[in-house]
Formats: sequence, structure tokens, C-alpha cells
Amino acid sequence: MNTYFRIAIPTPLRRHFDYLVPINFHAKSSLPGVRIKVPFGRQTLIGILLEVVHETDVPAQKLKPIIEVLDEQPVFDRELLQLLRWCSLYYHHPIGEVMQNALPVKLRQGAATHIKGIRRWQLTSEGKQVDTQDLKRAAKQIALINDLKQSPSGLLDSQLTEQHIGWRPVMKRLQEKGWVKSFEENALPVAKPISSAPTLNADQQHAIDHIVNQFDTGFHAYVLEGVTGSGKTEVYLQVIERVIQQGKQALVLVPEIGLTPQLLDRFLQRLSGRIAIMHSGLNDEERLQAWLHTKAGSADVIIGTRSAVFSPLLRPGIIIVDEEHDLSFKQQDGFRYSARDLAVKRARDLNIPIILGSATPSLETLLNASQGRYETLLLPERAGNAKPPAIHLLDVRSQKMEHGLSAQLLHKMKEHLERDAQVLLFLNRRGFAPVLMCHECGWHALCPRCDAHMTLHQSNSSLRCHHCGTEQYQPKTCPKCKSDDLLQMGFGTERIEHALTELFPQYQVIRIDRDSTRRKGSMEKLLKEINNGKRQILIGTQMLAKGHHFPNVTLVGMLNADHGLYSSDFRASERMGQLILQVAGRAGREEKEGEVLIQTHHADHPLFKPLLEHDYPGFAKALIEERQQTELPPFTHLALLRAEAVEQQQPIIFLEQARLILESAKQDVMLMGPFPALMERRAGRYRAQLLIQANSRKQLQSLFSLSITQIENHKTAKKVRWSIDIDPLDLL
Ligand SMILES: [Zn+2]
Ligand SMILES: [Zn+2]
Repeated sequence: MNTYFRIAIPTPLRRHFDYLVPINFHAKSSLPGVRIKVPFGRQTLIGILLEVVHETDVPAQKLKPIIEVLDEQPVFDRELLQLLRWCSLYYHHPIGEVMQNALPVKLRQGAATHIKGIRRWQLTSEGKQVDTQDLKRAAKQIALINDLKQSPSGLLDSQLTEQHIGWRPVMKRLQEKGWVKSFEENALPVAKPISSAPTLNADQQHAIDHIVNQFDTGFHAYVLEGVTGSGKTEVYLQVIERVIQQGKQALVLVPEIGLTPQLLDRFLQRLSGRIAIMHSGLNDEERLQAWLHTKAGSADVIIGTRSAVFSPLLRPGIIIVDEEHDLSFKQQDGFRYSARDLAVKRARDLNIPIILGSATPSLETLLNASQGRYETLLLPERAGNAKPPAIHLLDVRSQKMEHGLSAQLLHKMKEHLERDAQVLLFLNRRGFAPVLMCHECGWHALCPRCDAHMTLHQSNSSLRCHHCGTEQYQPKTCPKCKSDDLLQMGFGTERIEHALTELFPQYQVIRIDRDSTRRKGSMEKLLKEINNGKRQILIGTQMLAKGHHFPNVTLVGMLNADHGLYSSDFRASERMGQLILQVAGRAGREEKEGEVLIQTHHADHPLFKPLLEHDYPGFAKALIEERQQTELPPFTHLALLRAEAVEQQQPIIFLEQARLILESAKQDVMLMGPFPALMERRAGRYRAQLLIQANSRKQLQSLFSLSITQIENHKTAKKVRWSIDIDPLDLL
């Protein structure tokens, strides 16, 4: 009997590959899920063994033997292997790339799966005695010592890199003085709770008891719907503590931007287990070690961003998805999975509970709850004595505006600032001015590679495209007519920052956006300055809306909320509502009463009404009804076939062929397009898309199962870059 290895290989082809097993090789001892090195064309690649088979369609002369089996124990256990195969079918993404995506980089490259010590830095007992006053001039040494003092279990290289630019020579000097030492330990540090649980309110207690009492019933999906500041994290912490006591693991997924040091500190200070952290700030070795600890069961709690949903769990106890509505849970390129949806699928497969937490759950989740698939636990009160901020609209129609700021807003800012409070202004547009235009001839600064305006950035006198990154010098005169009358139109965060510095000279302004936080560790520094009270006026983008805790902010101003009301993206209003309530959540936490002011040209829009009353359920209900009437998700299911090419016609030609193939599958679906993308040209490539709508996921599945190979093999497919997006969140 012949034996072959069926292997998932990281290539863009939607299939697996069969290989010969060398004679004298104990094929039986190789379990599905091990890594195997194979020849592939002229390359050597590392694939994952899917199964050992005894028949193959590949002609004998084409079969090649494998090179080497890399693992004794599978890197993916049965459950994970099954999940990944399911992902490949559901998202119609090549199995080899799906598997690759789920592995730490080092394992993709062939590293061994041995748990190794990771270097940590700690103060020596002599170092702990050092009086930093004596080090007056060595600011970098002081900063390092102070940080090490606050981290008794030691700091990782990556943490130091994040916080202290050029820390290595400084550390060396401290080491020579005998004040610091490095050590390597195989085990994760065990957190020792240093702070105790705050008093819970009745709703928090009810939620915890309810979840804990049903631990034994297996899969159960809870929606923890709690207004901002209602203490969701406290519920997570106490539930996790019980999971640890039962000897099981908790997997906690947080949004990209939500994994703040503040959140981590809270987990570290309160939980009694071993915590592994997985996010993009780690270096490859640290990531690998966190993954291995999770797999070996020597981590009790795993906190990570999107891709941590593929963590190998030895003793799974619970999965928690914090801010489940957040867009960052959906991968937006390559293998376009939803970590939130996969977390639910995984909890069901593992037969464990899952908590989806949010102040503003997605409509998908709310519909699941109203149809009885998920159970809702409400936290309607803010924890402690905090009162919800009052939200008001500022009707700016025909009002005189100063730098995009209305007189009413400026007046309120003055009031709050004079009370020694902080003010946060929110504008979802970075840069100085979004449009540069010639007053003489009407010329606009357009990106040479995209159908988009270049944004003026005054800090370094440049024009930048926010879609492809193209950067040019700011022209002094119009390139077309040589006039020097160039108008800077519209407002970005940089421009508001300038204006505020002039309008409020007695206060310090701080700007937080992608430009001001580009350097590693700069976000941390800025946040520290805010919470030290050194800056009174904060201006920022979306980055400021989530997760951060600013106890002294009492006024939040949203400079423009209107883009969500009349957008071509049907999800825009859902996001606008979520954003307003998230931003509102930054005002008046703790004891101080807060206030939120929203500048709008559409003050009588009916969607605003429930938001002003903090009535997210009412807001969501209106949207859900609208989606039902318009037959949009979550009532129907979408897939998007995207294509792009340098030549303008190619994407449309390919998608027309794809449409014919899809039509011939004779499934009950609706096909829309192909049409050019809203921004047709981006980074020098023309883009088009074909939208597919179905009444059930099953219909979508069978449609693509019947046609994907034909689409992939069509000759027009070779002239474009194309992809499938199942359950797309972004239709642009
Ligand atoms: Zn001109
Ligand atoms: Zn561009």
C-alpha cells in the first residue's frame, strides 16, 4: 500500500499538495498538524501535514518526496487544525496561507518548538537603593531606573524598546554600576495580585454569578452590554479568576488600539495566574515564546489582538472578546477573517463559554441576542459614583466658525478650562488641511497615484496622500499658473492644534494622532503628560476615543459628526453612533460630571435623538429596522469580489467573467456589478468590485464552492490581483 502526505503549503493556490513519503520513514508516527519541509518548484517551503492518505490523483512521475518532518508533536492540535480547515472553506482562502497566518513567524521559518528563557531586566538590590536625585544629568538612566522600579517581575527587551529609545548603551552603563541585572527564566512570571477588587454594583455581581454558575453547561454566548465606565473589565477579571481557579485557560481578545499598558497593568495587578501577551509590539522570539507557553498550558491567561484567536489552548476555559464591535477584529487584507466571529465558532467547537463585551454592540451581535442565540447581560450604570455625561448638539448652521470651532464650543471650553479641568476635542482627520487649491485657476493638489486629494502637513511642509503614502514638498506657487494665492481648505488635527494654541495661549495643547505618535513609545509619553495635568487641551483622532482613561477630562467636543449620516457605506451611521458614545465615554469618569458637545449641520436628524439620551439600544433598534427593510446585513449576507490592476480595463473584464461563472452556478443570490471602486485608482492601480448578496450563508458557501476553482483558473484572473471578502465590513 502506498502512503502519501497531504500537505497545506503557503501558496496563493486554493488546494493542497500530495508528497511521497521516503522509504523506511515511519509515516504512521507523523500526526496531522506537524510541519514538513518540502521541495516546491525551485523553492523549499514549510507546510503543514493535513492527513496521511493512500491514494492520490497526482501522476506518479510528478510526485516528489518530502525533505524533512520538523516536529514530533503537531504545532496545531486536532481542534485548531479543524478550525483552520473550516476557515479555508468558509473564507474561500488558500489553506496553506490560512495555516501560515495562524503560526508565529519563527515557526513559519522552521524554528524549534522549545520553550526558552526570555531575557528580562531587573534592578539589583543595590539598584533599588539608588536615589535618582543623585543622577541629575543622566535623564535616560533615571527614566530606566524608574520604569524598572515599577516592574518587579522585570521588563522585556521589546518593552524597553517601546518606551526608551536607545536603551541598550544606557542599560550597559547601569549594569557596569551593578544596579541592574538580566535574567532568563523559562516560566512566565506569576502575577501576584497587588490590588483588591473594588466593590461591585448589583448588575456586575449578577453578571459574574450568572456566568460562573453556568460554567459547567459548556458553550454559552453572553453579550455583556455595559455603558462606558460601567466596569466590564471588572466582570472579566473576576470571571477569569474563577477560570484560573478551575485550572483552565482564558483567552482575551482586545482591539488593536485597546491593548493599552493601562489595561495590561490592571490585569497584572489583579490576576493570580501566569499571563501571556500576544501583539504586534513583541519581537518574533517573544511572540514565539508566548505562543509556546499557551500551547504547553504554562500560561493561564492569554491577552492578544486579532490573530491571538488562533492561540493553541491546552486547557480552554473561556474566551472573552472586548469591544466586540471594533473593526480591527476583521483582517482587512490577505486572509480576511473576523476574529470575533471565529472566537464564537471556536467557543462552540471547544464547548466553552464566550463573552462578547461592548458598550455599543454591533448590529450582528444584537440580532443574534434578540433571536435567542446569545444571552444579554446588562450593565446600565456607571461604576462608582460616576454620572453619565450630558450630550448636546451644537447646531452650527449659519453660525460663524473660527477655525472650525463654533463660538458656543469656544465659550464652553473656556468655562471648563477655568475650572482646572481638561478638554478633549475630537476630529477624525489628521494633517493641517485636507485640500490645497489655487485661488487663481482652481488647481487642486491631487495624488499622482490615487483618485484623492493630497493632505497638507504643515509641520514638515509636505503634501501627503493618506491612501498610498506618497509625499511631496508643499508648493510655494501653483504648479499650473504660478500664482502664489494657494488656499488651504478644510481642517485637520494639526490645524486645530495651531488655532487652539493661538486662541488659548495660557493653556498647553497636545495633539494625538497617527503623525504625533509615529515614534515608538511616543503615545505613552503623551498619555503621561495628559494624566500629569501638564496639558489642558487635547485634540486627537479616533486614537483618543478608545480605551484610554482621562479622569480630569470634563468636556468632550466632536468637531464634525456629519460624515456618518449621509455616507455611501451603509454601516457608516452604525459607526457614527458607536463613535459618539465611545467619545462621550471619555468625559467625566470618576467623580467629575462631564459634558459632550457635538457640532453638526443636521441637528434635527432622527438618529441623533436616542444618542443624546445615551439610548444605544434605541439607536440600534432604528438601524436594525432599517437594515431589515433594505435587506442588508445582518438580515442578508454579503461577499465582495475585488480586483485591481495597473491597466484600467482589466479588473472589470475579470469581474465580468467571474460574474458569468457565478451565474452559471445557478444559486439563489443577487449579483451587483462589476463597478469601479469608489476611489477607483489607489497606489497606481485601478480597482473594481462585484458584490454578491444572499439570504443565507449557506447559499454564499455553495455558490463559491461551485465556482471558485473556475474563477481562479480563468485566464483573465492572471492579469489582476483579486480577492474574496466574505462578510466584508468595508465596501469601499
Ligand atoms: Zn493656479
Ligand atoms: Zn495616493
